[in-house]
Amino acid sequence: MARLRTARLARSAKPFLARGGPRGERCPGCRLVPSHCVCSLHPVVPTRAGVCLLMADIEPLKPSNTGWLIADVVPDTLAFGWARTEVDPALLALLADPQWQPYVVFPGEFVAPERVVTEVACADASAAKRPLFILLDATWPEARKMFRKSPYLDRFPVLSLQPEQISRYQLRRSRRDDHFCTAEVAGLCLDLAGEPQAAQVLQTYLDVFTHHYLQAKHQLPPDWQGEAHQRLAQALGRTARA
Ligand SMILES: [Zn+2]
Repeated sequence: MARLRTARLARSAKPFLARGGPRGERCPGCRLVPSHCVCSLHPVVPTRAGVCLLMADIEPLKPSNTGWLIADVVPDTLAFGWARTEVDPALLALLADPQWQPYVVFPGEFVAPERVVTEVACADASAAKRPLFILLDATWPEARKMFRKSPYLDRFPVLSLQPEQISRYQLRRSRRDDHFCTAEVAGLCLDLAGEPQAAQVLQTYLDVFTHHYLQAKHQLPPDWQGEAHQRLAQALGRTARA
């Protein structure tokens, strides 16, 4: 993950500078402006589940991409750039690793019914395999193309999130800028994997990040005692920083 981030940032250094100039300076840890940095709050939760992000090429360039937040919270997060014509051998090795049971997270209505599951079979801590959630981190048209044109994913079950989960997610999402979706989907997956605390921490960390991101955008200071911070502290079992 860190390697991908570094490589992408190197490639994107020019557009970044061109857009913001020196005033567009970003924390390399959280991609926010330094005055709104959330790195001091960065939670790590040990999880059985892993996350595999397949990113449409442009995605890693965006500071608001929430894939980074998943990597911050879930230690076993791996990210790969997606291309139609080539597959990273490291991705194929990951998918073939017997410790993982991969699930492709995608809407079930676009998939042959026999592939679709709504529950995570290896959620039990005693299960032989750990769930690995494959998230297509892209716009919806890109995600559909990635799904269709990645034959190496065809052998895995498709985890389809349920309407009531989606509606909760859309309700939350409507309050946000675009591209605040992948981390929420990962949160729902962690819930299904029987890891509610990790799901809570990820979702509340996303709320904290969103708060800082929007405050920075509107040139207002972050509220370190605000609602989002309180909920993150609660999820982590400690009080918000003074
Ligand atoms: Zn930071």
